[in-house]
Amino acid sequence: MTARIIDGKTIAAELRARVAGEVARVKNDHGVTPGLAVVLVGSDPASEVYVRSKHTQTQAAGMASFEHRLPADVVQADLLALVAKLNADPMVHGILVQLPLPKGLDTETVINAIDPAKDVDGLNPVNAGRLASGIPALSPCTPLGCIILTKTVHPSLEGMNALVIGRSNLVGRPLVQLLLNENATVTIAHSRSRDLAELCAQADLVYAAVGRPEMVRGDWIRPGATVIDVGINRIPGDDGKTRLVGDVAYHEALEVAGAITPVPGGVGQMTVACLLVNTLRAACAIHGLSAPTV
Ligand code: NAP
Repeated sequence: MTARIIDGKTIAAELRARVAGEVARVKNDHGVTPGLAVVLVGSDPASEVYVRSKHTQTQAAGMASFEHRLPADVVQADLLALVAKLNADPMVHGILVQLPLPKGLDTETVINAIDPAKDVDGLNPVNAGRLASGIPALSPCTPLGCIILTKTVHPSLEGMNALVIGRSNLVGRPLVQLLLNENATVTIAHSRSRDLAELCAQADLVYAAVGRPEMVRGDWIRPGATVIDVGINRIPGDDGKTRLVGDVAYHEALEVAGAITPVPGGVGQMTVACLLVNTLRAACAIHGLSAPTV
């Protein structure tokens, strides 16, 4: 058996097109242009690439994009002052502070300073708490993308056994909450979990968000299971260059799984698309408009 490949690139493009359609409607019917502000501190090359991609995709969706760059040695008070200014700016509906922040800045304090109504990364504890309480919240983008990808295979996740490997605030924990909201039966594993292979063997849905290249082996996977690989790991390639691999041994899993996301071309494509979704949702909520149907 060869698994169905879940094409994140196409699914993300379709989602961006739906967002663009809703943005046009909100602009036309209500005169509201959703706006996303991205704050980049320092010049980490990977962060530069992400910020550029967010800017391009935000504009392509018809939204306003505001970029704020601060030097790596900015003092915390100045960064907090910028966040306060964006919180108060009526043109800005979403605020994203690109992580990781340079040393010397306290990530938690900065995230906590973002108005929860504009917290499109879903990392503010108010949104994390709302999500954990089953109350509508702005949820982190990568887990949102994982759910959308899963639903292209299984429109209902009700009663399915889901295993989430990884418990970070960015991916694993919010993903568990989103799966619970979908009425899946969820197991969460982490570095202290025993016998991951056995846990995997029980799972209809496997989510790997670990950051360890190809850790999840093909013979761990239950035949026919859906595998969503969040990992992005750079390893040495045969040609002396580096290549990207996920947390799942893709070619092994392909032979056993029912459906699987590739790396690259899977979850990674969804994250920015879901950021656009969150910005649109935030804009609608702030202006008292009904939630967009994307
Ligand atoms: P993280 O904060 O480092 O968390 C990793 C999690 O994996 C932790 O909960 C850790 O457990 C667990 N873990 C580590 N070693 C393990 C092992 N041997 N067995 C089981 N669990 C283990 O990483 P993250 O931010 O969640 O990111 C995870 C991966 O997803 C990374 O490769 C990252 O690059 C990728 N990522 C991709 C996207 C995207 O857009 N596609 C977005 C975000 C992240 P403990 O809690 O016990 O330490």
